[in-house]
Amino acid sequence: MIRPAIFKSPTSIIAVLLLLLPLCIPAARGQQSAVPATKQTPNIVIIISDDVGYGDVGCYGATRVKTPNIDRLASQGLRFTDAYATSATCTPSRYSLLTGQYAWRKKGTGILPGNAALVIDPKSMTVPRMLQQNGYATACVGKWHLGLGSGNVDWNGAIAPGPLEVGFDYCFIIPATGDRVPCVFIENHKVVGFDPSDPIAVSYGIKVGNEPTGRDHPELLKVKPSHGHADTIVNGISRIGFMSGGHSALWKDDQIADTLTKQAVTFIEQNKERPFFLYFATHDIHVPRVPAQRFRGTSECGIRGDAIQELDWSVGQVMQTLDRLKLADNTLLIFTSDNGPVVDDGYADGSVEHLNGHKPAGPLRGGKYDIWEGGTRMPFITRWPGRIKPGVSHAMVCQVDFLSSFAALVKKTIPTAAGPDSFDVMSALLGDAPDARHELVEHNGFAQLALREGNWKLVAPGPRARAQARPQLFNLADDVAETHNVAKENPDVAKRLAQKLAELREVGHSRQGFQS
Ligand code: CA
Repeated sequence: MIRPAIFKSPTSIIAVLLLLLPLCIPAARGQQSAVPATKQTPNIVIIISDDVGYGDVGCYGATRVKTPNIDRLASQGLRFTDAYATSATCTPSRYSLLTGQYAWRKKGTGILPGNAALVIDPKSMTVPRMLQQNGYATACVGKWHLGLGSGNVDWNGAIAPGPLEVGFDYCFIIPATGDRVPCVFIENHKVVGFDPSDPIAVSYGIKVGNEPTGRDHPELLKVKPSHGHADTIVNGISRIGFMSGGHSALWKDDQIADTLTKQAVTFIEQNKERPFFLYFATHDIHVPRVPAQRFRGTSECGIRGDAIQELDWSVGQVMQTLDRLKLADNTLLIFTSDNGPVVDDGYADGSVEHLNGHKPAGPLRGGKYDIWEGGTRMPFITRWPGRIKPGVSHAMVCQVDFLSSFAALVKKTIPTAAGPDSFDVMSALLGDAPDARHELVEHNGFAQLALREGNWKLVAPGPRARAQARPQLFNLADDVAETHNVAKENPDVAKRLAQKLAELREVGHSRQGFQS
């Protein structure tokens, strides 16, 4: 048998094996369709904070909290004044961010209980899947709240489908929210710290197990609920939903930020040699607000402000890690929030009493759960040193645009049937273009919609605004606080926008070129 010349010496065989080695890595990671990304392709890190409002950080005007890291990020990057989450609550907002589809188009994307099934179709194109297919290592660290399993999930076995089935190589997650059971972390398919002799049961109906509840044993509570949140007590805090077992796996609330931040940093360290996508969804500043002791009492507006300062620390840790590993110059780092602010969100934690003049939504009306600008207009910063010129952008962009925009960044186009509402706004995110979207549908997370068109905003009637029988029209150019309904003075505009909104609902997509 004649061997090719390069196989004629042991040295050359080793050389060939070394050359082939990188080709084996994607297969070993289970990414059959992955192709190596170019060195020019930047890493992408999204830090999605929770319930942080437009006025909650220093670079957006806050003075009662100190956010030096987020402020530094803004000074090194592009701070957006007209950037949006699609929806004013967690689940629909995050659904849209990852799938490129307005959540109100998809049934079952309202605020989910902790035992809900996965709401993202594992067959669909998502931000992590698109990047995974283009050679990125992908991770989800932090709050998930998009459902797990296919119904009646067994917390004691392999928990799937979940983040790994929609395009993440790795996940370390809070299954739902901090105020919902189960109060355990999940790494990939398993509960972290699980003890088979102490099986976990979860119920959102009938009580399970013998753990005390806030309803029956208020004397055991460290923080009293203000509404709801009266079920199983974990760490002295009563939650939404019932849980038993899993004692060795229960998280410590004051260590959640430390734990998640460490996971985020470790993922960056372990993937520094290849393009990576990190979706870091902090627990801060969602309720229950239990920042680590070193942050307690450090802000001038109570425990909610302390949680903001803990969040700022987490952002700083990610920034420091990118600097230390010399990755900052090749990383697009985005900081934003999933929906507007709320002060009392179910626990009497003193946030209302200690607000001290702090304005969580800044100049905007409303907050979490609302159709007003405070519900969906978000703090939003992009940083990529050497590529993004620092400054302020007034371009209208939305988190639903990440799918098409990141595809453009890696020089790909998404399939025609993917991302029905995801626009390519990459040139605005990079600061190359002053404009992006000219229209956007806002959603309060329930059944109410509003349409932005330029500076006009039409608020359609909805179940949470029964008193408003007619649509309301605002001109945000001179009324960003939405105080003057100008529908009567501009009947043609109101009519045209109402028709347009109806068409956008009817047709099922807003992205040009989309075909189902
Ligand atoms: Ca939220």
